Amino acid sequence: MELKQLYREIVNEHNLHPVHKKTIENPDLVLRGVNPSCGDDITLSLKLKDGVIEDGGYEGSGCAISQASVDMMIDQIIGKNKEEAIKLAGTFMGMIKGEVTDEESLEALDEAAALQDVAHMPARVKCAVLGWRTMQEVLENPEKSEA
Ligand code: ZN
Repeated sequence: MELKQLYREIVNEHNLHPVHKKTIENPDLVLRGVNPSCGDDITLSLKLKDGVIEDGGYEGSGCAISQASVDMMIDQIIGKNKEEAIKLAGTFMGMIKGEVTDEESLEALDEAAALQDVAHMPARVKCAVLGWRTMQEVLENPEKSEA
């Protein structure tokens, strides 16, 4: 299978069968993220224990890229502490901007690296980073949380 096709399949799979599109009971952090240019609108909920992200979920709607991206993101950040999750968000956004291309960094993103091609689709960049931007914002500014 061609790599690009494999990536498309990964994005499709997360869009059609999201694992983390669910309500989180008693979340510690909740933040809504909106991308008006596309109509993507998500609410991200995170549960933390001893500074580690224990569980996460999202609700809302949007295009395939925004939905798949946030689903993959939650996969990647569960089990990580705040600092690690924020660092990973930086790596992801760097990849989407086309600034991060080395294999070691991309490997850290695991499946989320499937969105690397978005770097060549400027109109979709905001869709791809929506979940990550929202996660970074609420971890860095917990006072913004709506939980
Ligand atoms: Zn979108």
